[in-house]
Amino acid sequence: MDLGIAGKWALVGGASKGLGRGCAQALVREGVNVVIVARGAEALEATAAELRADPLRPAAAQVLAVAADITTVEGRAAVFAARKDFDIVVTNAGGPPPGDFRDWDREAWLKAVDANMLTPIELIKATVDGMAARGFGRIVNITSSAVKSPIDTLGLSNGARSGLTGFVAGVSRSALAGKGVTINNLLPGAFDTDRLQTNLKGAAAKSGQPLESVVDGRRNAIPAKRFGNSEEFGAICAFLCSVHAGYMTGQNILPDGGAYPGTY
Ligand code: NAP
Repeated sequence: MDLGIAGKWALVGGASKGLGRGCAQALVREGVNVVIVARGAEALEATAAELRADPLRPAAAQVLAVAADITTVEGRAAVFAARKDFDIVVTNAGGPPPGDFRDWDREAWLKAVDANMLTPIELIKATVDGMAARGFGRIVNITSSAVKSPIDTLGLSNGARSGLTGFVAGVSRSALAGKGVTINNLLPGAFDTDRLQTNLKGAAAKSGQPLESVVDGRRNAIPAKRFGNSEEFGAICAFLCSVHAGYMTGQNILPDGGAYPGTY
């Protein structure tokens, strides 16, 4: 299926690794020009080089890399200095650390809210009016399955991302919807990335169980009996950014191998 977005410009946050990288790769393969962002310049440049060398990249698709912390005013300024207008924005940064809510002070909460709620809102604010003026726009926020099915140790994520979800529910149904701009959230379940590995190691250390049995337990609890991979996550993201998904806005899409047990 031709997704109809070749030649568009996309901003993809947190894109040197994991899910953001999967989204960038899928978009580039559709002929989309991408600006990829992460803090670590070395890994980011390596990813940019790999995306450029991808045999499935149409020759015209450009890959620009901006090493910046997207959660800061300065970082976002650096991104918009590289390119002002975007047709597609995938908001993403690292998730907050796990822990016990008794240990989280105001600073910890502000950091989580800044990274996982206010940063996507700032990126939406900076881009949607231009999208509306041009008659096409796609925002995809990478959030978490924890928005629908909270995990107690990820309270910072549950809280901050739920705030973003509420905001998106409203803004996606505003006048922007009539101007070709869709805003959706993509809620990963367990995907095999560095972050998942770190969380599993943390769970093993906390429980005193061997890492292998923690990994097996987590995997076996998923009806699909496996973790997801970044490539399949990216394909869903690219579809949400496509011309074919223009009638879908304000939705929370849950790729999780069937882990969420509810009917709705
Ligand atoms: P990951 O493998 O750790 O990759 C995170 C990417 O984001 C890296 O490229 C990292 O590079 C970049 N990044 C982190 N903080 C950033 C910042 N402040 N500014 C710019 N770039 C930043 O994580 P992932 O598994 O892909 O997760 C992506 C998001 O999905 C996270 O918010 C995570 O909580 C959420 N999520 C993941 C899963 C899962 O199973 N993987 C499940 C639920 C939710 P630098 O560190 O160099 O900046």
